[in-house]
Amino acid sequence: MLLVEDDDAIASSLTAGLATAGMSVRRVANGADAVAASIPDVVLLDIGLPDFDGFEVCRRIRQHSQVPIIMLTARSEEIDRVFGLEIGADDYVTKPFGLRELIARIRAVTRRYGATEETHHEHIVIGALSLDILTRRVLLGGVEIELTAKEFDLLAYLASRPGVVHRRIDIMESVWDTNWYGPTKTLDAHVAAVRKKLGDQRWIEAVRAVGFRLEEPE
Ligand code: CA
Repeated sequence: MLLVEDDDAIASSLTAGLATAGMSVRRVANGADAVAASIPDVVLLDIGLPDFDGFEVCRRIRQHSQVPIIMLTARSEEIDRVFGLEIGADDYVTKPFGLRELIARIRAVTRRYGATEETHHEHIVIGALSLDILTRRVLLGGVEIELTAKEFDLLAYLASRPGVVHRRIDIMESVWDTNWYGPTKTLDAHVAAVRKKLGDQRWIEAVRAVGFRLEEPE
């Protein structure tokens, strides 16, 4: 992990303490070095730094990375904590903090981060059809299919649980972010478009008065 801390005494005791928990620490002592460092698995970030403050470091890291960031703050003011979280920090600990508390926080944010990464890289395979949720690419029999954004969202939603009948209202709410109890012409038009691109009507089965189900045609 990367420790951004200008105080040598704090940095060395933290590094030694975290090492006992099997965590290896690379330390930098200012904001510029922190921003220039290659992205680690976790960032422990002091707020009071000699060049620019921890908030600014956090903001700059967030421009290109979702790495977990824990702010180490000497200030206990609510405003600093709220501000830190608003600009993208995952958690904070207030100095003086215990090593066990810090280790628990580190483990919690990395667990959450790992879980998020997995869903981002989710890959759905249903027979000849495969969807990459992160890159939003769809392959059918190894050939890429071009879908519009909404067509992809619709297909991904149905594919998230293949074989299950999804209610129209649930599809509308999830894909179009709207509660629409009236006629769902938009949905039908998109289903028709996706079917056409998949080259076989039977991929998406209409279940009368209920909704739709995605399944590989036999
Ligand atoms: Ca400091």
